[in-house]
Amino acid sequence: MQIILFGAPGVGKGTQAKILSSKFHIPHISTGDILRTAISKQTPLGKEVKEIVDRGDLVPDEMMGKLLEEALHDEKTKHGFILDGFPRTIQQAEILDKVLEHLSFPAKPTVIYLTSDDEVIVKRLSKRRTCSACGNIVNLNYLDDPTTCPYCGSKNTFVKRKDDEEDVIRNRLKVYHNTTAPVIGYYKDHAKVIEINGILPVEDVTEEILKKLS
Ligand code: AMP
Repeated sequence: MQIILFGAPGVGKGTQAKILSSKFHIPHISTGDILRTAISKQTPLGKEVKEIVDRGDLVPDEMMGKLLEEALHDEKTKHGFILDGFPRTIQQAEILDKVLEHLSFPAKPTVIYLTSDDEVIVKRLSKRRTCSACGNIVNLNYLDDPTTCPYCGSKNTFVKRKDDEEDVIRNRLKVYHNTTAPVIGYYKDHAKVIEINGILPVEDVTEEILKKLS
């Protein structure tokens, strides 16, 4: 099973990818997570992309293509994968097609397209935090106690991503509409696309995905 989770930043691709990854026992590949790890470890890639990611712009396709190829070469992806955050341009979609062909993946990926509303996204992302102890993502709007991680119980461990500041969120949305959204047109011609309202509660989105996948 090869799944691409597609949609605007903050629509819930990462959350759904984690759920589907544990349900289907296939790896979750988040290009944003790979870049953030490289940035925090200050690797050569991390140093090169830091400013681009902090601004909310896109890392060049050629670099992303190499990164994707490396990620998909992993033995663990043999039985499938869930891609979150790739492709973000038509050129990346073409690169993905070539890499899948080169690695002899049998079927075309299924694209799960989570639709959204920009103002809801801005509200959501400005309250999004990551627990630095367990790595889970939370939204402060939905926590009874905004100082305690509901997953691991740690206190005061929430950190805000630099690119979740409002001006950067708005730039990421602009980049999404101008450059990434057209990719869905590419897939409507090339693959199976499942469209779901990503603004619904998390459990409802998962239920819809599972229903439509089966
Ligand atoms: P994400 O966690 O998917 O929202 O990605 C965070 C940031 O990483 C994006 O705003 C981009 O700067 C960069 N990034 C992640 N995936 C890609 C990609 N496929 N192409 C270009 N830049 C990317």
